[in-house]
Amino acid sequence: MALQIFDSLKKKKIYFNSIEPNKIKMYTCGPTVYNDIHIGNAKTFIIFDFIKRCLMYIGYEVIHVQNITDVGHLVDDSDDGDDKILKQAKKEKIDPYEIARKYEINYKKDMADLGIIKPDYEPRATDFIQKIIDFIKILIEKDFAYQKNGSVYFRVNKFNEYGKLSGNKLDELKQDASERTIKLDEKEDPRDFSIWKEAESNHLMQWDSPWGSGFPGWHIECSVMAKDLLGETFDIKSGGIDLKFPHHEDEIAQSECCNGKEYANYYMHSEHMLIDGEKMSKSKGTFYTARELIEKYGAGAVRLALISNNYRQQINFSNEFIIQSKKIFDRYIETYNRLQKLNNLNLIENNIEEKIKNEIDNFNKNIIEAINDDFNNSIIISQTTAFLKLVNNSIENNEVNNNIKNIFNHFYIKIDQLMNLLKYNIEIKIPNEIKELAKQRDEARNNKDWPQSDILREKILKLGYAIKDSKEGTIIIKNENR
Ligand SMILES: [Zn+2]
Repeated sequence: MALQIFDSLKKKKIYFNSIEPNKIKMYTCGPTVYNDIHIGNAKTFIIFDFIKRCLMYIGYEVIHVQNITDVGHLVDDSDDGDDKILKQAKKEKIDPYEIARKYEINYKKDMADLGIIKPDYEPRATDFIQKIIDFIKILIEKDFAYQKNGSVYFRVNKFNEYGKLSGNKLDELKQDASERTIKLDEKEDPRDFSIWKEAESNHLMQWDSPWGSGFPGWHIECSVMAKDLLGETFDIKSGGIDLKFPHHEDEIAQSECCNGKEYANYYMHSEHMLIDGEKMSKSKGTFYTARELIEKYGAGAVRLALISNNYRQQINFSNEFIIQSKKIFDRYIETYNRLQKLNNLNLIENNIEEKIKNEIDNFNKNIIEAINDDFNNSIIISQTTAFLKLVNNSIENNEVNNNIKNIFNHFYIKIDQLMNLLKYNIEIKIPNEIKELAKQRDEARNNKDWPQSDILREKILKLGYAIKDSKEGTIIIKNENR
């Protein structure tokens, strides 16, 4: 079965063909770096990282761009309101460039902790100002944009296909736009949107341009960075569903008018995230940063929770949901460690080895099928848990020989290219002090000295670790619930 993707522009699942063989160029809209990213943002980035991992799993090379918006993103995504970065700079009383760099560092740390592959390019909008100006010049030359009082607007009625992504009709837009636009008199048509904005003299981030001193609009930044890094047409444009309109709709309009070519061949949007069945809300106290949840549940459990749903389904992030993910996460790590501890393995019947090989082949086949069917994460997770069950059952039944251990380890490494959870395995990083206490406790247990065994267990707990007794002996785990 060949790869099929739900294209949000064509609004159906279609067969995927990359522009270059075996290579995919993909652009994901990155964060505006004015505060710590919330868990909904993290979900978008983690899910497109997961999709990228899936594409790599089935043999593609992926060139991935995820930009950093460090200028020009307004609080209101229409043309008015304050710049988010400037607003935060005023609040923290530091320079807007410092705000942008500070939160860029925090964002990158969150991404690394959540196990996201560093994108090939993470361009900052502020490094592209001259290219943005050049791009706007072409739009003006081609009559797709016009200058008014130091700002430049895109002429929406010159692009017949405007609205093709979001499904918003031009006539309906007219009314919406007129309601939210203050500088109506500057625009030829209320639906037009700004691509360059005139800056007041006290505006902190501004650049010289042929139209006076100003700064770029948010949408134009992505159009320009995508063109520069991936070409005029690339394979996949992706982002959270809230970016469909106006952000992606406007990117398409600008890029297709400037380049005279399709912007991207496929559009992918990930669904919203709910907290306890509702939209995240600051006033209801259900607004969480990624960092808060990493600290509360551990990065591995948060990562697994965020990749367990299909990207086009809403994910309901509740306490039970993450506890469930944490259980699977623990089993994933514990099973791996249990497998590594096996030694002096017995010879077993040949047909068992054959049976296990077939089962593993089946898991792999099902995972590939799930990927090809528009990235069905639920099936990928269920195949992973079925694999864990097989490993555990085989250990219980003494049905693991060296060959089988190798087969299991090999598949563990393979699925971990998708799951990326073994990186959180701290078994190998347990301090010697803890290992020594665990050893003493084992001795106490062997001598049936239960009070001493309990004292040592408590001691280990206090140091932030927990021990579990299993068939292969004591397993030490980091106690996240401390
Ligand atoms: Zn963007």
